[in-house]
Amino acid sequence: MKHTYTIARQFAAGHSLVGHPLCRHQHGHDWTITVTVSGIKSIDEQGLIRSKLGDFVDECRGKNLNELNPAGTPSVQGIAMWAWERLVMGIPNLESIEISTSEESARVTL
Ligand SMILES: [Zn+2]
Repeated sequence: MKHTYTIARQFAAGHSLVGHPLCRHQHGHDWTITVTVSGIKSIDEQGLIRSKLGDFVDECRGKNLNELNPAGTPSVQGIAMWAWERLVMGIPNLESIEISTSEESARVTL
């Protein structure tokens, strides 16, 4: 039997967004990343997803997201797209990634 698996992780990280009314000066957020994967058949697959997501979150935690992805825009939309690009190769059947802060959220779906 196949099922859908959704997992969320939190991390604190900083950013600044040129022209954004709330985020134009450097500051921090608590970010939540939620990953949904379809077609899961085993506990081992869930473990792989937790591991890949954990690596990504460890890379982001405590960092300035402007420096981590200098080519991108560190908005919720931009971080969702970047997370998708980073995770899609390592997580088969990745269905969606949602990034949220207390103010905003964005979802990238296949
Ligand atoms: Zn902000």
